[in-house]
Amino acid sequence: MLPSQPPAPAPSDALEFGLEPPGSADASAQLAALETLRRVWGYEGFRGQQAQIIDTVIGGGDALVLMPTGGGKSLCYQVPSLVREGTGVVISPLIALMADQVDALSALGVRAGFLNSTQGPQQRRDTERAYLAGDLDLLYLAPERLRSAETVRLLDSGRIALFAIDEAHCVSQWGHDFRPDYLQLSMLAQRWPAVPRIALTATATQATHAEISERLGLDEARHFVADFDRPNITYRIVPKDNPRRQLLAFLRAEHPGDSGIVYCLSRSSVEATAEFLVSEGIASLPYHAGLDREARARNQARFLREDGLVMVATIAFGMGIDKPDVRFVAHLDLPKSVEGYYQETGRAGRDGLPSTAWMTYGLADVVQLRKMIETGEGDEAHRRRQGQHLDAILALCETVSCRREQLLAYFGQPGTGPCGNCDTCLDPPQAWDGTIPAQKLLSTVVRLDRRGQRYGAGHLIDILRGVATPRVSQLGHTDLTTFGIGTDLTQGQWRGVVRQLLAAGLLAVEGDYGTLGLTEGSAAVLRGERTVPLRHDPAPTGRGG
Ligand code: ADP
Ligand code: ZN
Repeated sequence: MLPSQPPAPAPSDALEFGLEPPGSADASAQLAALETLRRVWGYEGFRGQQAQIIDTVIGGGDALVLMPTGGGKSLCYQVPSLVREGTGVVISPLIALMADQVDALSALGVRAGFLNSTQGPQQRRDTERAYLAGDLDLLYLAPERLRSAETVRLLDSGRIALFAIDEAHCVSQWGHDFRPDYLQLSMLAQRWPAVPRIALTATATQATHAEISERLGLDEARHFVADFDRPNITYRIVPKDNPRRQLLAFLRAEHPGDSGIVYCLSRSSVEATAEFLVSEGIASLPYHAGLDREARARNQARFLREDGLVMVATIAFGMGIDKPDVRFVAHLDLPKSVEGYYQETGRAGRDGLPSTAWMTYGLADVVQLRKMIETGEGDEAHRRRQGQHLDAILALCETVSCRREQLLAYFGQPGTGPCGNCDTCLDPPQAWDGTIPAQKLLSTVVRLDRRGQRYGAGHLIDILRGVATPRVSQLGHTDLTTFGIGTDLTQGQWRGVVRQLLAAGLLAVEGDYGTLGLTEGSAAVLRGERTVPLRHDPAPTGRGG
């Protein structure tokens, strides 16, 4: 272990807070870090706060690092693992990536290994032996390994340079990606108090940040919070009409021949979208967990290697992908959280050149996700958390102010002001007073409710627009006093109203069929105590959504 020095003064360029650093490397260790960076990685110098973070960990201090995707988190624990004596133990939930990470390090001449459930007994024994012999610079470990006394004994019998806790937000029970195995990582501080720990994440709200610090016992850690802004990414969210056609038009107009990722919610829509793009002459590959391992690896390798490929994927794709020239990330379906959205869109433009994050979003997305939450697994508290994540992403979709400002505020950087590089800045949406249409819609729901009936958006809109479909007639809904009182709006405009009421929590999705019901907020609207400002959707078309 290297000698500890008195705390270094806080660097002025770092957004930083916390207690005085317990450890900080001396000048020779700093030189060793730089020398390692140049020799092993061939890079000129450290970026952003890397030098301070590495300095802290080499000096034996703890660090909590919040840095966006592509910010360069890996070096923050890899370099100290090489400089400090012993093996850097990296806890990561991304088991599927460990073999690739180890291969990439080995190619650089770094001695790395991993222990997880995917390997055979022989490979495991070899790795354990290498660790005990002091022949490993880095050891990647699945969090559940620490549950076994055997692993703890193994770690004790070797020399640990540091613990790196990757994807540290997984410890947050309120976060979007909670992993129960992460809770036991609090043991690291108790079991190995002298070993420095560095926790890293690319996605943390202020609440998650605090929770990471508390649960991992990082009260003495220095906190490094990088600027989360990705100024080269233009954010755009458009109303969903015919998503594949809209995607095609977007690609042809703005990204012909570019590499990019298209995210879809389901495997079947991944397949259908990739086929559609290919039939339109755009080179595309599918990627989802239903494809066999080989096909996934092949498609991923092609995407990384070739220029101008479009990867159509579920969110199973992208973790650990380091392709600098992804020019766009498109979402054909609504992501389940702002954290997920920001992580996925963050894969665009790592090279700093102009890139686009583009999403289509419509009424059906809201209904589907609300329904999934309502009928999904987990207890009431789990559902409530999922509902909060959905509300946050809906608020982003429906905002009439700057999207980037809202995103950054969500991640703990409020008040940045309008960015000038998102759709709401570039083409400010018009607001209109939707109070009366909202009252018409809600009172239709009330009237049906009195008859003990619940319906979905399509049927309600038929009633409001006075369309006597066979179903409307058969059910006697032409008799409702609200039948035909909404002919002033098109079907598409009505869908926009329903979507925004759902987003605002003034209307609820219920049960397996996605029928609509009232919420606590509905009553205030019906009584005229609450106005309903709505966003004017550009060119509503009345189709789909
Ligand atoms: P993160 O884990 O934060 O998403 P990575 O650690 O994968 O980011 O780093 C993103 C990319 O930036 C990688 O290709 C990495 O090699 C590169 N990189 C990181 N730090 C530096 C540096 N100091 N100089 C040059 N390239 C760097
Ligand atoms: Zn903006």
